Amino acid sequence: MPSTRTPLVAGNWKMNFDHREATYFVQKFAWLLRDAKFDFRRCEVALFPPFTSIRSVQVLVEADRLRIRYGAQAVSVTSQGAFTGDVSADMLAHLGCSYVIVGHSERRKYHPEDDANIVDQVRAVLAAGMQPILCVGESFEERRQGIELDFAVSQVHDVTRDLSVDEAAKLIVAYEPVWAIGTGMVATPQSAQDAARAIREHMRTQFDAKTADAVRILYGGSVTSRNAVQLIQEPDVDGFLIGGASLDPDELALIARLA
Ligand code: PGA
Repeated sequence: MPSTRTPLVAGNWKMNFDHREATYFVQKFAWLLRDAKFDFRRCEVALFPPFTSIRSVQVLVEADRLRIRYGAQAVSVTSQGAFTGDVSADMLAHLGCSYVIVGHSERRKYHPEDDANIVDQVRAVLAAGMQPILCVGESFEERRQGIELDFAVSQVHDVTRDLSVDEAAKLIVAYEPVWAIGTGMVATPQSAQDAARAIREHMRTQFDAKTADAVRILYGGSVTSRNAVQLIQEPDVDGFLIGGASLDPDELALIARLA
């Protein structure tokens, strides 16, 4: 990948780790990175705990001045009020979150998150001064039909069509083919590259070359230390969104070093 984009290795813990387990993870993970003299200017590292563990991660990061970033896995589109169970973007920003994952396929499947809701989440995240990580990617059926690139690009388009250039420049896109998530089946480096390239080309057409070149495009779906090296060599793959493998601090630290 070109040196202008700093790779991002993002660990999506999903519904794992209570605040004590999160504390243990961060302490060990930070120690592993320090021991490896990890260069945070070369590669960004971010953790995505469940809401209940974000504050514990923040306390550790601030106390030890860690350069590990963190964010949330979802956000409410409303800012405050009678919305039982919701968490606003401002609340997350006040906890020091840098990023919010938006439109993960598990959220699209298990929660009523459609394109309109995802656009509103992106806007709420941007308005609160954080960066959205927009997840897109085809199911096995779309891949079987050979329409995976069009599908991923249309998901990006549906969310970005009303964004300004300034807003689009802050977006991070995660290409996560649904059939690869949690299955052990990983996209080939070439198909991850093809999707990332198609998304970047779309950003170029919709916005401009500068924006397209700046936007980071991650690959997600069964990333491990065994496949990370080949994937990151692709010119348009700027890092990873990692589920299962991010639950092991040794494995996540290794992937960060390889990225
Ligand atoms: P996985 O999950 O790495 O376990 O496939 C990726 C994701 O859902 O972000």
